[in-house]
Amino acid sequence: MSPTELAQDPSAVSAQSFSATNFDQDVMTTYGRFPIALERGQGCRVWDTDGQEYLDFVAGIATCTLGHAHPALVAAVTAQIQTLHHVSNLYYIPPQGDLAHWLTQHSCADRAFFCNSGAEANEGAIKLARKYAHTVLNIEQPIILTADASFHGRTLATITATAQPKYQKNFDPLVPGFVYVPFNDLAALKDKIATLDHDQRRVAAILLEPLQGEGGVRPGQLEYFQGVRQICDQTGILLILDEVQVGIGRTGKLWGYQNLGIEPDVFTLAKGLAGGIPIGAMLSKEFCSVLQPGDHASTFGGNPFVCAAALAVLDTLETENLLDNSAQRGEQLRAGLHTIQSQYPNLIAEVRGWGLINGLVLKDEIELTSIEVIKAAMEAGLLLVPAGPKVVRFVPPLVVSEGEVDKALQTVRKVLAELG
Ligand SMILES: *Cc1c(COP(=O)(O)O)cnc(C)c1O
Repeated sequence: MSPTELAQDPSAVSAQSFSATNFDQDVMTTYGRFPIALERGQGCRVWDTDGQEYLDFVAGIATCTLGHAHPALVAAVTAQIQTLHHVSNLYYIPPQGDLAHWLTQHSCADRAFFCNSGAEANEGAIKLARKYAHTVLNIEQPIILTADASFHGRTLATITATAQPKYQKNFDPLVPGFVYVPFNDLAALKDKIATLDHDQRRVAAILLEPLQGEGGVRPGQLEYFQGVRQICDQTGILLILDEVQVGIGRTGKLWGYQNLGIEPDVFTLAKGLAGGIPIGAMLSKEFCSVLQPGDHASTFGGNPFVCAAALAVLDTLETENLLDNSAQRGEQLRAGLHTIQSQYPNLIAEVRGWGLINGLVLKDEIELTSIEVIKAAMEAGLLLVPAGPKVVRFVPPLVVSEGEVDKALQTVRKVLAELG
């Protein structure tokens, strides 16, 4: 057997003895976990410690862009760690420059800053907006508007930006300077800005997801985002887009904002950027030069290892035509889910999404929850992730094949037949 065949044969790997009981004694209790332990992956498939195979439509939550053990990613990180894996930003880091160049050449941004996660990228954007407000807009107490049902991360500033009480409860006092508006509601946004202005509280930035991921796979509306852009152009308010979940081809286009016919002033990336190697990035138009040496930093940010990984992901995105695949497999998936919806009109309220981020929305008036569907799918060999209590989210690797999408649809059909 070749090494690849060996890696794909579950019996070839000695089953590690794994104890969930021991794990639960040692690891903090911050996560609810499904009762399987994943050990190995190849493409869109993963295997647990019992050798059970799953089709992975979670991809580390919209993160493993190239799936698991992709040869291009393996080769890039192997070569880089053998050469130089980490040095400080005290020095020039060539792969960081290459990555920033790729990102700025392929987007509306002029410059990039690198960090390690989505929350950290959003923290950076919040700091950038505040410094810009203080030093250029002359706003003493800058306000950042964010949307109901948004998700921007788990640090104190980003749970405050996240307009969902369940993420904030018992962590107060929260960070001042955030005000919430309903998503996709332009009139409410205009009203809020006017009311705040009247109270001498000026808005410095509006922070939105192009499509709300955690909040239930809710796509942004074209007219809304174009209206928001217009308000920002007229007032000088910054438009910051959180592309942490939808950036890097997830929506069938490289950036989520390309679905909305607008360009942001700042956008943030993380999940899919390095295909599962931890990275975050804040991209901005030139005004970001208000941040001067010493204003912002991250020890690991943009080190050679993660930048080599991201460059391999972006290169593969182009060589394997993954934007087209994301768009086409997404259409196939939504078409199949719509058929399933027509077969189970009493269970399914809606199918929505862009490219390879899609939600199957269960009816509010039935008892069935997303978790119940996901548990049944897992037992049937398909991994899915909730986006709230009623939305089953499909975010497979962008390398997913037509056959794998068909197989996932078959499993969903079977699961709903049992549950429905
Ligand atoms: C996941 C996510 C974040 C947080 O990213 P972390 O890497 O977990 O900090 C922020 N914004 C959006 C839209 C996300 O989906």
